[in-house]
Amino acid sequence: MKPARKKYIEELLTEAEVDAFVFFDLANIRYLSDFTGTDGVLVVTRQAATFLTDSRYQTQARQQVTVESVICYQKKLDGLVAELLRLGTRRVGFEAETLTVATWEDLKKKANGQIDWIAVTKPLRALRSIKDKEELAALEHAALLNQQAFDEITPLLKPGTTEREIALALEFALKTLGGEEKAFDFIIASGERGAMPHGLASEKQLRSGELVTIDFGTRVAGYHSDETVTVAIGAVEQKLRDIYDTVLMAHDLALAAVKPGIGIVELDAVAREYITSKGYGDFFGHGLGHGLGLNVHEFPALSPNSEGDLEEGMVITIEPGIYMPDIGGVRIEDSVVVTAHGCRCLTRIAKKFQQFPA
Ligand code: ZN
Ligand code: ZN
Repeated sequence: MKPARKKYIEELLTEAEVDAFVFFDLANIRYLSDFTGTDGVLVVTRQAATFLTDSRYQTQARQQVTVESVICYQKKLDGLVAELLRLGTRRVGFEAETLTVATWEDLKKKANGQIDWIAVTKPLRALRSIKDKEELAALEHAALLNQQAFDEITPLLKPGTTEREIALALEFALKTLGGEEKAFDFIIASGERGAMPHGLASEKQLRSGELVTIDFGTRVAGYHSDETVTVAIGAVEQKLRDIYDTVLMAHDLALAAVKPGIGIVELDAVAREYITSKGYGDFFGHGLGHGLGLNVHEFPALSPNSEGDLEEGMVITIEPGIYMPDIGGVRIEDSVVVTAHGCRCLTRIAKKFQQFPA
């Protein structure tokens, strides 16, 4: 476990007044132990950390994990409770968001009154929001793959190509380039479908005169890329161009405003107020962006209802959009790292208006 993370957990144990912390969330487990499999539980005390998993992952875990010991269980919760009792823990913290009520009830039963289970809200989110050098390198690499994959598929950006073909070609290119897995189901929304902020790729063909919104990403060493481009297929009517220019300016203004200490609400308002000033305020329904890392959406959420300020080292997306029913939509998204005086863009695809020949 990296020393900074160990230190943070020690503070967490003290703050929550618990003897141990159990992590069920796989991203949290990976963050603390480097385990990349899909099942297991991590126990951390002031003295040591133990990763528990089943026989499928025994070999992998012994090779991968960077904590003191690995234990193999037959039954997960029985194995966990036995280990906690062996360690002599009385008060045990767990992630309030991850554990189901059913599992919590089960744990209480199995520990038979010998352990107090303490729910802790989002224990690692503040720490995880600040990326270290290694994390930034992975995020940057994932963003580079986005650019390379996009360059490869541009010949498909023409009338007759289906949205699904674009999604498949991007996924294939990203994996061929070394991406581990697609970051999410790609959003490819052309023409009127662009009015759906989360329009998944359909069998619809691109047509001349349409905008197409392409929101895609991959994963490198567990870290994601997330980027949206909206491009024109042939000449588009002035209204669509107007929407594009409005979103691009909102995006540019927000990027220019990113710096440590700016209130998240204040940053969101930079883009929102510009879009509203152009008469499109009712058509920008979602938040400005989100944190990006081991999860595609993580702390901090950037919206008018968020709390707190940006901090140096956070990686966030800036993704304003305008979605007009029966007309279409535009979203432009970059991922950036907050630096000492501003931000640095990780994503690389040019966001200026691009028109592909129809
Ligand atoms: Zn996105
Ligand atoms: Zn996003």
